[in-house]
Amino acid sequence: MSIEAKNVTKFYGEQAALGGVSFSVKRGEIVGFLGPNGAGKSTMMKIITCYLPPSKGDVKVAGHDIIDDSLNVRKKVGYLPETNPLYPEMYIREYLNFVAGLYGVKNKKKRVEEIIKMVGLTPESHKKINALSKGYRQRVGLAQALIHDPEVLILDEPTSGLDPNQLDDVRKLIREIGKEKTVLLSTHIMQEVEAICSRVIIIKKGKIVADSPVSSIKEDSNTEILILHLNKSINIEKINAIDGVEKTQTIEKGKYRITAEKGKAVLSKLNALATLENADVEELRKEERSLEDVFKTLTR
Ligand code: ADP
Repeated sequence: MSIEAKNVTKFYGEQAALGGVSFSVKRGEIVGFLGPNGAGKSTMMKIITCYLPPSKGDVKVAGHDIIDDSLNVRKKVGYLPETNPLYPEMYIREYLNFVAGLYGVKNKKKRVEEIIKMVGLTPESHKKINALSKGYRQRVGLAQALIHDPEVLILDEPTSGLDPNQLDDVRKLIREIGKEKTVLLSTHIMQEVEAICSRVIIIKKGKIVADSPVSSIKEDSNTEILILHLNKSINIEKINAIDGVEKTQTIEKGKYRITAEKGKAVLSKLNALATLENADVEELRKEERSLEDVFKTLTR
């Protein structure tokens, strides 16, 4: 396992930020870490990267304990904090050389050039950090996280504040990096999770409320959404009276969005109702739930 967290609890004074969080991430996985603001994502990330000790619980990174063997954990993990703290007065090469020195990287000069190329900094590489756009600063942040070739990469909101083009570029880069590394990344953007991650962990008030592959999390529910479009309006109460229908929302004249219990054959009952009402069915289908819907349901 690249990351193994067991029963991690964290208090800031009296306030509990994490209440017994357990999960593990296999080598090579890209996992999205989601949750509303204040859920505990950054706290968990700081614990994994040895920036904060947990109040209770155990974490191992690449087999090394974060308390007993933190030196080895630091060698195995790269971290891009939410604030991406950089030294604005330094030149890119100067800064990356400095970070490489902190990690005791061999062949520093060669490695710095390699990493500049890898994160796509080449066209800007002669500049000072304060002269860079936000997108390029994020690349410098990624470069410092990767300079010592860690097995695990922890990225705290790596794309926040980027414009759509920068966003695409940085996502592409993370996907590329993820082919070689284990990645845990936090984000508020659901499309990002769908575009980059194979698995998602959702945390709410310091506790995990979901941990599934992205492809199956949308199915993990007892209800489904059905779309019914008829050539005329019918009384909405007749739809609500069907066994298995929880609620109905009118989208437009004759078009309804129906929340139904799974396994109650509501689809065929709707067909039968349309016949009874002398209405033509123009459309009747199951709507795919979005990750956003799932997130809202789980974290509200
Ligand atoms: P997230 O990253 O999901 O937004 P955080 O891990 O930053 O959540 O915060 C979790 C909880 O811990 C929040 O209630 C936050 O206010 C609190 N918290 C975070 N850092 C500190 C701190 N240094 N001192 C006191 N409380 C903190």
